[in-house]
Amino acid sequence: MGLIGEKLQDSISKFVFMVIIFFLATATRGEWVLVIVYMFRDQLQNLLAGQGIQVSGGSVHNVTGPSPTLLESLKLQNIHWFVLLAVSTSFIMYYGLAFGWHYYYYVNRQHLAKEWKCQPDKFLTPENERHEILLGSLNMMIGSVASGVIACFIMNGGSSKMYYNVSERGWGYFIFSLVAFFVYNETMAYYLHRLFHNPWLYRNIHKMHHRYHQPTAWSAVAMHPAEFLMYQGYLAATPFLVPIHAFPFLFVLLYSYYYGLCDHSGINMEAIWPWQPHSRFHDNHHKHFHVNFGFNTYFFDWFHDTLRKENRVYGEEVYGGRGKPTLKSE
Ligand SMILES: [Zn+2]
Ligand SMILES: [Zn+2]
Repeated sequence: MGLIGEKLQDSISKFVFMVIIFFLATATRGEWVLVIVYMFRDQLQNLLAGQGIQVSGGSVHNVTGPSPTLLESLKLQNIHWFVLLAVSTSFIMYYGLAFGWHYYYYVNRQHLAKEWKCQPDKFLTPENERHEILLGSLNMMIGSVASGVIACFIMNGGSSKMYYNVSERGWGYFIFSLVAFFVYNETMAYYLHRLFHNPWLYRNIHKMHHRYHQPTAWSAVAMHPAEFLMYQGYLAATPFLVPIHAFPFLFVLLYSYYYGLCDHSGINMEAIWPWQPHSRFHDNHHKHFHVNFGFNTYFFDWFHDTLRKENRVYGEEVYGGRGKPTLKSE
C-alpha cells in the first residue's frame, strides 16, 4: 500500500476510534436514557398505549387501575426500570471506558509515557486510584439514579419546558439556545469552580478532587458529592426553567461530559474545536492547583487573568489564581 493509502487508513482508524470513544463517553452517566426518552417519547407512548396503558393529555396512566397510585400521581410509574437501566448502563460504560484507556495507555504503553502522557514522570498512587474509583462510582450512582428519575418523569408526561419540534420556536431560537446554553454552562462552571478555590471551600470540599495530582478518566466525576450535585443541579434545572429543544440541551451535556473525561485522562489530546482547550490545560490545573479554572473555553481565564504563566510559581497554598513571582523576577 502507498504512503497516501497508509496515511488515509491511519486517519480513518483514528476517526473511528474517536467516534467510538465519543459515544462511550456520552453514555457514561445514564444520559442515554434521557436521549432515548427525549427523541422517541411519542413513539414510546404509542407503544405503551398498545400494552393497555392509555396516553391522554401528555400523561400516561394505567386504564385498568381504579385510582392513581402514589407513583402515578408523581408521574413516576415504572421508575424501577428507568433507574435500573440508567444505573447498569452507566456503570458498564464508565468502567468500560476508564478501564479501556487504563489498559491501552497506562498498562500497555507505560514505557512510552513521554509520547502520550501530560505528566510523563508521575502517576497516581494505587491508594488514590482506589479512592477515585470509589468516589467516582458513588457520584456516578447518584447521577445515574437522578437521570433515571428525570427520564421517567418526562416520559410519563411530567411538565418541563423541553420541546421536540424545531418549528415550535424556529431555527433562530434553536441556534440561539444552543450557544446560550453552552455559554451558561461554561459561565456557571468557571465561577462555581473558582468559588471552590476560595481557601475555606477548597480545604473543606474541593481538595477532595485535587488529591489527584495526575488525574485519570476516573477523576472526572471523583469529587465531594456536594460539589458534584451543584454541577449536576444547574444543568438538570435548565429544561424546567427555560424553553430548550432536546438537541441543544443534550449536545451541550454530552459535549461537556466528553471533554471532562478527556481533560482528566492524563493523555495528551488535541480538541477538534478551536475554542476547546487542549487536555493539558486542565491537567495543569491539577498540577498547579489555583489556576486554569475554565473547562470548555479559555475565555474566562483570559478575561480574569487566571491563565497559567511560565514565569509565575504556583502551589496548593498559593491562592488567588495568579500564582506568585519567581525568585528571579522578584
Ligand atoms: Zn479545582
Ligand atoms: Zn479536575
